[in-house]
Amino acid sequence: MSLPTTEVVGRHASPESRGWCSPNPLIHGGHESNSILNSRKRIFLVIFILQMYSTTMSGIVVIFDFDKTIIDIDSDNWVVDELGATDLFNQLLPTMPWNSLMDKMMEELHLQGRSIEDIEDVLKRTPIHPRVVPAIKAAYALGCDLRVLSDANLFYIETILKHLGIRECFSEINTNPGFVDDERKLRILPYHDFHTFSHGCNICPPNMCKGKIVERIQATLAKEGKKRIIYLGDGVGDFCPSLRLGENDCMMPRKDFPVWDLICKNRQLLKADVHEWIDGEDLERVLLQLITTMISMEDEIVNQVFDCKFETIAHEVLPKPLYVP
Ligand SMILES: [Mg+2]
Ligand SMILES: [Zn+2]
Repeated sequence: MSLPTTEVVGRHASPESRGWCSPNPLIHGGHESNSILNSRKRIFLVIFILQMYSTTMSGIVVIFDFDKTIIDIDSDNWVVDELGATDLFNQLLPTMPWNSLMDKMMEELHLQGRSIEDIEDVLKRTPIHPRVVPAIKAAYALGCDLRVLSDANLFYIETILKHLGIRECFSEINTNPGFVDDERKLRILPYHDFHTFSHGCNICPPNMCKGKIVERIQATLAKEGKKRIIYLGDGVGDFCPSLRLGENDCMMPRKDFPVWDLICKNRQLLKADVHEWIDGEDLERVLLQLITTMISMEDEIVNQVFDCKFETIAHEVLPKPLYVP
């Protein structure tokens, strides 16, 4: 009786068994074959380390609130005031949720003959601190994944970001839907349709729980190789997401604004580091300092692994030099 052969043949044969590469060292047990196998493992280790290095370059997610964070005012109030509808707005405010009121105000402005172009013109004049756009561009250039999380609406935010030339810096805008309908009227709808279901958070407005959205972002980060969040905001609505941040994350509340007050009173509820900022210049300084510190800390860890592994690996993997007599 002949012993079964260990060599696999046919369609499922390994490249080695079909003679494409070196013979299987486990079958032949040659010293040289073993070293080739080990060399391959080492090459994979080098690639793995390089991949680790490249993901750390974009491993930071920066989440920006919009009103009084990216821009220096509240966009809803700005549009209403600039188009002369402040009195009606104040009259209706006690009667309905803010988000529904904004939809109603857009209808009223449409009835008064205000066009989409009138609203766009007002949005393009929105006050913004001169250091905010450079700060956003620098964070983007440093490889951060930038996102907006706002209780304004998509129409306002996209119009302003495009006008400032920074729309492409953001991978995601999480906000209330805002669009121009068939009658050329701006419609503003809730992010969560609170008429059909409640988001269940009792500290957030019915149309949007920013904490829930941060949780959704966090759930995708591990898959995308991203590790840390920096969150910037000013308002009451930014307190809920600040409670969801982890100990490696950073919260940047605007000093003397509502979220800063809430954080000062409830500091023990936050796991994240807190770094306050005052204005656009301060936002730029604090944000870029945090990003560069995070990147250099990651680089240091990678470099330590890289330094001790790569030198040994490189010597063994790279071809031997040829000596010409
Ligand atoms: Mg805000
Ligand atoms: Zn909430």
